[in-house]
Amino acid sequence: MERIYLDHNATTPIDQGVLNAMLPYLQDNFGNASSIHQEGQVAKMALNQARKEVADYLNAEAAEIVFTSCGTESDNMALIGIYDQFYKKGNHIITTEVEHSAVIRSCEYVEARGAKITYLKVNRDGLLDLEEFEKSFTDKTVLVSVMFANNEIGVIYPIKKMAEIAHKKGALFHTDAVQAVGKMKVDVKDLNVDLLSLSGHKIYAPKGVGALYIKKGIPCLSVVKGGTQEKGRRGGTENLASIVGLGKAMLRLVSEQEKDNHKIKKLRDHFEKAILQTIPYTFLNGAQEPRVANTSNICFKGVEGEGVILSLDLKGISASSGSACSSGAIEPSRVLLAMGRTKEEAGASVRFSFGKSNTEEQVNRVLEILSPTIEKLRTYSPISLKA
Ligand code: PLP
Repeated sequence: MERIYLDHNATTPIDQGVLNAMLPYLQDNFGNASSIHQEGQVAKMALNQARKEVADYLNAEAAEIVFTSCGTESDNMALIGIYDQFYKKGNHIITTEVEHSAVIRSCEYVEARGAKITYLKVNRDGLLDLEEFEKSFTDKTVLVSVMFANNEIGVIYPIKKMAEIAHKKGALFHTDAVQAVGKMKVDVKDLNVDLLSLSGHKIYAPKGVGALYIKKGIPCLSVVKGGTQEKGRRGGTENLASIVGLGKAMLRLVSEQEKDNHKIKKLRDHFEKAILQTIPYTFLNGAQEPRVANTSNICFKGVEGEGVILSLDLKGISASSGSACSSGAIEPSRVLLAMGRTKEEAGASVRFSFGKSNTEEQVNRVLEILSPTIEKLRTYSPISLKA
């Protein structure tokens, strides 16, 4: 059975060209980029090349890129590193209720050490209120952290405008762009952000590599203590093969991203429209626009999201729910609850996230399977359906 993978916001397969570029650095070119001998110099050249590729995609300078182990580490570094650097100047951070747990948990960590955090609320569409944002600054605000695109609903936040407001108020601006890179233009000069996180495995590079853009001149204390790698901003021997992969994945995006997303959006829109028109008691979670091209989060009233995921999995289809498993119990998505969904609605929601290899045939096959699957699951459901 051919599997149909619709969970690209969770992770993506490695692109063949990316893998080919990486292989020599897992075999013959095994040097440590900090060594001064020949093997070390070969590694250093590859590291510099990858740094340039990442910087070029972002319209940044190579020296502004710090390689990390993942998006989570980049977010930790931005929140904790900036707080540690600036807490004497001010201890207030502004973020949102819908951030990834990498940001939320970092905020909680600094909160326990004296930070004050404001969590901005979203409306039913998952959108932020810029007036409320402007009012939330205090004379102690040092940092704002707002994601560029949401991982669960795909909604895009007005980062450029928010960074401008933050700067007027004298605060730095970090954006978690893990779900934006590869799906839209991400130009740090145009956005004028101070820090930006990204992750390799969401853009057809391997897992275990990410990057943090830190604008020139902004000090950020290292969170990973150790050697002087990455100009002292992140200790630890660089994961060279994966970094080479990240560079190649971003180089690929420069020429392919627009084409990829044009195709993906057509598939996603066809899929979403068909579901909302043909399966009763369904609705879209999150604003229709502005939204990244690949994400569709749909509530199928009267079913358990996990039931849908497992039934589809048995039929060869991978999707996901935003629910989190904690202490053996399934917790409904924090993001959907923040948008005012009931626990039942949040629990009945499924995220489909498309990627560059999906085809129209695959989408039509999922549509064929989905309708009877939902119908069957609803017959087992104790919840009565109302429009
Ligand atoms: N931020 C967002 C918005 C994400 O979607 C994710 C991963 O799902 C992360 C951060 C964490 O990235 P990583 O899995 O590379 O740690």
